[in-house]
Amino acid sequence: MGEEEAAAARRAILSGWVTQGPEVAAFEREFAEAVGASHACAVSSCTTAMHVALVALGVGPGHEVVTVSHSFIATANVVRYCGATPVFVDVEPETCNINPTLIEAAISPVTRAILCVHQLGMPCDLRAVRAIAARHGLPVVEDAACAVGSEVLSETGAWERIGLPHADIACFSFHPRKLLSTGDGGMLTTADPALDARFRLLRQHGMDVPDTVRHAASTVVTESYPTLGYNYRMTDIQAAIGRVQLTRLSAIVERRRLLAARYARAFTGVSALTVPHEPSWARSNWQSYAIRLTDPTRQRPVMQHLLDAGIATRRGAMNAHCEGAYPAGAWRAAPGGLAVSEHLQDTTVVLPLFHALDEARQDQVIASVMKAVEA
Ligand SMILES: *Cc1c(COP(=O)(O)O)cnc(C)c1O
Repeated sequence: MGEEEAAAARRAILSGWVTQGPEVAAFEREFAEAVGASHACAVSSCTTAMHVALVALGVGPGHEVVTVSHSFIATANVVRYCGATPVFVDVEPETCNINPTLIEAAISPVTRAILCVHQLGMPCDLRAVRAIAARHGLPVVEDAACAVGSEVLSETGAWERIGLPHADIACFSFHPRKLLSTGDGGMLTTADPALDARFRLLRQHGMDVPDTVRHAASTVVTESYPTLGYNYRMTDIQAAIGRVQLTRLSAIVERRRLLAARYARAFTGVSALTVPHEPSWARSNWQSYAIRLTDPTRQRPVMQHLLDAGIATRRGAMNAHCEGAYPAGAWRAAPGGLAVSEHLQDTTVVLPLFHALDEARQDQVIASVMKAVEA
């Protein structure tokens, strides 16, 4: 973020309307246009977006939602906010995404939705997921927290941005770790106007007449609260920042793709590690670039070696089911278990990749990784 974002925040602060007003409405229109969606609804985070999505689909106590454990913990948490049980399907090692061949066995009579993730920005196999969901009459929600600017190949051979949406609802994050940030923030996209209307009700206390409408009315209007809602609003200050950030998206994605290709070229043929696999029908935004180490005992030493060289790394995605917040009974593993998820948590290393990274510094990272994996 820079001077333009600061000026946008100032404009919103001095406008006389600071939350869920004209800046939010404009950000929603511009975001919808940027991803090709017919409806976009801004909320306070991706976590609240996914909670709203599941509530809007009628997920509640006694239900199950098929998802992955190998994700940021919020993916599984939102299922439990609804009083439902997450059913964890294992992932594919090449993409860290849900393994579609294991989904069908995870579905039970109480399954109400599939919540799939585009992990680290890499699109999951939506076509396969949707085909299974259609056979079982289940809605699909995309956790697209990391995937703004990622693309998939359409049936007509055109590249389409994640968020169209390709399933029923897509949920985005604007946390500072993602490509675009509003400080914190989230967005829901859908092609279904009834779902969009439901999101708008749920994000503001279930209130049926928004403040903006009451403010503009020339006759006295009173609101009512037909359903239990939440306070999941985005502020106009955040939205004003988001509008500036959105104009930077294409350039950010282009730069990240160039840097990711440089990593891939540099590490080709290095047997101690594997670079991320991009399927032919997918184009990642490279929100994170996670290499996989061949030797599972090397994750910590490699990360320490890089830290000693002044290079910050992180492990890749975590596994919700390995955390204290997930005791037995709070979740269920799909048939087939979670061996790949567990192996990935212990073998992935996220390397520095951001659009301001220059080639010389990336070459230093590459040289240090080579030394670290050989040490
Ligand atoms: C960041 C992230 C979230 C949470 O997003 P917030 O906007 O911080 O709520 C959820 N899922 C995944 C996969 C993420 O990476």
